[in-house]
Amino acid sequence: MKSNKVVVKMVAPPKDGAAIVPRIREIIAELGEDPEREGLLRTPERSAKALRFLTSGYEMSLNQIVNGALFDVKYDEMVVVRDIEFYSMCEHHMLPFFGKMHVAYLPKDKVIGLSKIPRIVDMFARRLQVQERLTQEVAETIKSVLDPKGVAVVCHARHFCMMMRGVEKQHSGTMTSAMLGDFRTHKETRDEFLALLQTRTNDF
Ligand SMILES: [Zn+2]
Repeated sequence: MKSNKVVVKMVAPPKDGAAIVPRIREIIAELGEDPEREGLLRTPERSAKALRFLTSGYEMSLNQIVNGALFDVKYDEMVVVRDIEFYSMCEHHMLPFFGKMHVAYLPKDKVIGLSKIPRIVDMFARRLQVQERLTQEVAETIKSVLDPKGVAVVCHARHFCMMMRGVEKQHSGTMTSAMLGDFRTHKETRDEFLALLQTRTNDF
């Protein structure tokens, strides 16, 4: 079982990217460029800052994100949050991958503020990731927070490491999913969710 692996203990890195700056400068030089050239002068600082932001999920805490936005309800219909945009970095090449995530859960006795779900997605997306683990971590986290009857996450993404390096066709996407609880065991529940994903956005 992969459960509970999600609440990973992270050693919080220092918040500024100062230590990264000279290394980026070295990389630029190693690539055959002149780091002193006008256009590149401040690139190490900017790049370090960008890297810090793109991996800021390591510094986010689930407790801070959820921040008490859990509500007791007698609602037991499926809750679906669709089309959550995310941007992440593949851990194999440190190149971006990005796409959309669709999250659903079946409440048992609690729901979470809807705005919290995209923030949970960001917390895991803004790390060095693989798409499969990102999908699983979002699902397991929602499970751990809400103890719902089931959680489903579907993730579509495009990977720069495939698109830019010509490994696969430009427009190929990768889809991953994680189905927990009723979404795994009840075909009708899973089908209902998957059918909802087929509905066009402007039908809402
Ligand atoms: Zn990659």
